[in-house]
Amino acid sequence: MNYAYLVDCYQKELRTKVVSVKDDKFVVLEDTIFYPNSGGQPHDIGKLIRESDGEAFPVIYVGKFGEVVSHQVDNQGLKTGDEVKCVLDWDRRYQLMKMHTAAHVLSRVIHDETGALTSGNQLGEDASRIDFALSEYNREEIPGWFEKANEIIKKDAEVNKSFMKREETQNISGFAAPSPHLMQDFEELRVVDIKGVDAQPCGGTHLDSLKEIGKLEFVKSDNKGKNNRRVYYKII
Ligand SMILES: [Zn+2]
Repeated sequence: MNYAYLVDCYQKELRTKVVSVKDDKFVVLEDTIFYPNSGGQPHDIGKLIRESDGEAFPVIYVGKFGEVVSHQVDNQGLKTGDEVKCVLDWDRRYQLMKMHTAAHVLSRVIHDETGALTSGNQLGEDASRIDFALSEYNREEIPGWFEKANEIIKKDAEVNKSFMKREETQNISGFAAPSPHLMQDFEELRVVDIKGVDAQPCGGTHLDSLKEIGKLEFVKSDNKGKNNRRVYYKII
């Protein structure tokens, strides 16, 4: 099933129903706007508000187990069948959408400049990092990568999200090979296509347009092993 967070990344509230509650704190819902911790993107937080009495159940962790998204709540008493309104901590989610969309742009620039593929990443609200596989590089070139990324962002581009069969992705020009970065193994691929910039499969949450990112700033770089470089960035 394609949960609401994958269909509309800008949906901040959702009315739905409790399917099950385990140990009085792990809640499964019919549908959800809460992104579960995965692929280097941290889970959303927020609350579930019970429709019958307005009681709030803060959501402190969200994980995906198989196909099931489980919400850990910090208040007891929700029951199967309860109708709830999901409310996201939108400021946090929107910041992570900016960081995430920026990761696609940076990965593309680093790949175009060096040939290196992204090998991992970890997004954060304040700073994020990208790892890429490269044995030799010149650190002095990194600020230039950020200049290029910022030019692309300033120029702006639409970010399309769609579900496609694997074979259909062959028609997208410049489609990146599935990388471990943010890849989830759906039968149908969710393709994130930044028009004219980059297209690749990804199960995270993204902006609708590049210019919403604002401006990226290079923070620092590290060597993490012989063939692994790490670049930290933030949004200013
Ligand atoms: Zn992505």
